[in-house]
Amino acid sequence: MTGANYLLEGEPNAKGQTTKLLIDCGLIQGTNKKERANYYPLPYDPKEIDALLVTHAHIDHTGRIPYLYKLGFRAPIYSTPPTKDFAEELLIDSQGLLEKEASADGRDPLYTLHDVAEVMDIWKGIKYHNLVRINEFDVEFYDAGHILGSSFVKITANYPAGKKTIVFSGDIGNIRTPLVKDTEFLPEADYVVMEALYGDKLHKHTIDRKDVLENVIEEAVTAGGALMIPTFAMERTQELLYEINELTENMRIPKVPVFIDSPLAIKLLAIYKKYSDDPDYFDNEAIELFRQGDEIFNFPGLKFTLTTEQSKEINKVALPKVIIAGSGMSEGGRIIHHEYRHLGDPKSTILFISYQSPGSLGRKILDGEKVVKIFGSEIVVQCRVRQIGGYSAHGDQKKLFEWLQPMKSCIQRLYLVQSEDNAARVFANKVRDELAIDAQIPEQGTTVEL
Ligand SMILES: [Zn+2]
Repeated sequence: MTGANYLLEGEPNAKGQTTKLLIDCGLIQGTNKKERANYYPLPYDPKEIDALLVTHAHIDHTGRIPYLYKLGFRAPIYSTPPTKDFAEELLIDSQGLLEKEASADGRDPLYTLHDVAEVMDIWKGIKYHNLVRINEFDVEFYDAGHILGSSFVKITANYPAGKKTIVFSGDIGNIRTPLVKDTEFLPEADYVVMEALYGDKLHKHTIDRKDVLENVIEEAVTAGGALMIPTFAMERTQELLYEINELTENMRIPKVPVFIDSPLAIKLLAIYKKYSDDPDYFDNEAIELFRQGDEIFNFPGLKFTLTTEQSKEINKVALPKVIIAGSGMSEGGRIIHHEYRHLGDPKSTILFISYQSPGSLGRKILDGEKVVKIFGSEIVVQCRVRQIGGYSAHGDQKKLFEWLQPMKSCIQRLYLVQSEDNAARVFANKVRDELAIDAQIPEQGTTVEL
């Protein structure tokens, strides 16, 4: 399930008016049929919203914001400053894809680049732990440790009868993620709305992921083929670079050309650099390397390919080589061209480091399907298929559980959202049994009174 979008409505005042806060407004992603739901009318009036709070820049949390604007939303938008910067690039990129799809279907795109520009004018960057007051609500962002600038948001409602707090988790990050700081914990909350993508899984190789990456690269170079790594531009690309930089500098991997074949990833890298001296966002290790003058996203053999022509030039470079490109689930993007070329080659390797949603090409390959369709042709998958779960940007069951634990005695109810059915069910049972938390799994469109 994607397309995070929550509405929190306060108690009516003497005049019967209420404060309405939106939390995230993401794009629904998946099959064509599912994505059509992005064009459905919203179940609330965008003109009546008092503020929009954005947990992080991923498109499944931001992708419908310009559409919201198009429908008359004009209230302020709040997020951390990096989230705002990343979102601008991601929304522009997403608009290009939406426009292509729309013109193929003969309809208007969900929003225009003009809408994106207008959205940026009403978007305010707020640092972690700075309080924003919106009528009776106090809003505070905390570090979610998911991607740079990501947050979970604590909202305190102040009423004469007392205070109530509700926390929207956004995506809670993995442990010991390179570059970004670790997830913060909260001691208490009355209600938690939590995403539990990996509520039923434990990541393998979280601690030793760099060693496993080293092995995969060595193995791929020895085999003499292409090593394809499908990634999200705004997810592990920058962290992978950071890790490969270290492996290269410490001479732990053989010399091999590494291509970042993603214009978006290159643009996002500039934003990483913009915040590179800010200890609010980067962990100590990264800050230290920045201060020592190490270009942590650069090493001998690394090449960035911006244009389509440059991308095609990669084909002329002799094997072995490493190609990092989007999209992260192999649903479009430049990686598809490389997969078309190399999936059938037993000497080549495809390495998955991100979540692969059911039905995506990436998931099919990962699940061991022997024949897949690309550009209308059937490709027999003969390359090696590898996975490192430890690079996930999302916390696994253990991490999610640990994040909830300190709040267990005061949580009145937990709502699990944005997860595959099984993940939510397994996680709900675990926290009911072990933390005695009342955990519910609401259907999309559910309204509850707190
Ligand atoms: Zn995310």
